[in-house]
Amino acid sequence: MSKRFLIILIICVAASGTVFLARKFVRPISAPPLPQREFVDQLLGDDSVKVKPPDQVQIILVGDIMLSRNVAAAIKKAGNPDLPFLQLSDFLNSSDFNFGNLESPFSGRNNITPSGSMVFNAPTDNVKGLVDNNFKILSLANNHALDQGITGIIFTRKHLAESGIISVGAGNNQDEAWQSELVEVRGIKIGFLAASYASANDSGKIKNAYVARTDDFENLKLKIENLKSRSDFIIVSMHAGTEYTRQPNAAQTDFAHAAIDAGANVVVGHHPHWVQGYEKYGNGIIFYSLGNFIFDQEWSQKTKEGLAVKIKISDSKLQSAELFPIIIENYCCARLMTEKEKTGFMNTYNLATSTIWLLP
Ligand SMILES: [Zn+2]
Repeated sequence: MSKRFLIILIICVAASGTVFLARKFVRPISAPPLPQREFVDQLLGDDSVKVKPPDQVQIILVGDIMLSRNVAAAIKKAGNPDLPFLQLSDFLNSSDFNFGNLESPFSGRNNITPSGSMVFNAPTDNVKGLVDNNFKILSLANNHALDQGITGIIFTRKHLAESGIISVGAGNNQDEAWQSELVEVRGIKIGFLAASYASANDSGKIKNAYVARTDDFENLKLKIENLKSRSDFIIVSMHAGTEYTRQPNAAQTDFAHAAIDAGANVVVGHHPHWVQGYEKYGNGIIFYSLGNFIFDQEWSQKTKEGLAVKIKISDSKLQSAELFPIIIENYCCARLMTEKEKTGFMNTYNLATSTIWLLP
């Protein structure tokens, strides 16, 4: 018995010694071979073999994004600022970048706005959901721009900029509010402007210098003219219309037509909280209202519905616009509609096709 134990012990010691020696004297693994592309590049010493980037830019446009009130409460409960976008993250990251209207300013304060309040404030960390979901540029021109005062506009611009997101439509003065911005993708420059019918939740009564206004046709034309010389494609954001209506009003059509007449390629509208139709006009297209995208208006079907539009730009021209109806659930979170829901939505809005072709 003890002899057998001794033999086993000797075998164990010998085996562990072999492993130790093998580890100690084994040669370090040589560096992995260069990937084929880098290898070829090094040989040729130039960029000639690099794959040419596709000459197409894809942008997803969405409507109103509100990261305050019940949305903020849901985010806080989950401990995750990505929560409202979670079910759409693959879709939102399938484009080169995304644009939307940020209806809730940041102020640096993290209090959760009560459910019935109309004065929005987004907790500071909620910006992460926008960053993680490919939002590179946002409009601040809307009737909640001044919910946290002018200091809120200044803080929001700074906070977004520090998070890598450009903002348009609001600022410390009219020059900043009307300042156009460019997003460049593979050398293609997309220009943005944004304007609103109001800067406070007062139906547009108070006039001030902090928000670009949709009745300022002079600045609209001037800024588009300026953008034409330094961009390849122009998108104008329009926060206007009558809430909870299906049809655009005269102020919307006047502004949108003026923008396209001046040289804009796309006008993207929001504010009515309902989806409104689109119009092919001149050389451009107008989406009068994309409705809600992230919001907590759970009290009716139409306020829970929204539209995301994926536009494809080729050779500085709008090639197509694909419609992706969404639905908002649990007072916070958007998802793509199912095929059945989508069919009902398309019928309601008399939309014959989900892909609008702009080029032959
Ligand atoms: Zn609004």
